[in-house]
Amino acid sequence: MQITLERSKCIGCGACASICSDVFRMAHDGKSSLKDTELSDLQKIETEIACPKEAVEICPVKCIKVK
Ligand code: SF4
Repeated sequence: MQITLERSKCIGCGACASICSDVFRMAHDGKSSLKDTELSDLQKIETEIACPKEAVEICPVKCIKVK
């Protein structure tokens, strides 16, 4: 499963890190970041962890994609 996070759109609500802390963390700039990934406007990782699907549903600005 590929996770894409468009950090440029993130409003820093913290919901994804709260519901899926194995994949998301809140970075020092106040936006979400994929764990163990260099900060950039667009981040991608491959993972078998399932909870990013829940994060897609709750993100208020729809900046998380899963495929
Ligand atoms: S749920 Fe969306 S807006 Fe909220 S911190 Fe996560 S990526 Fe950012």
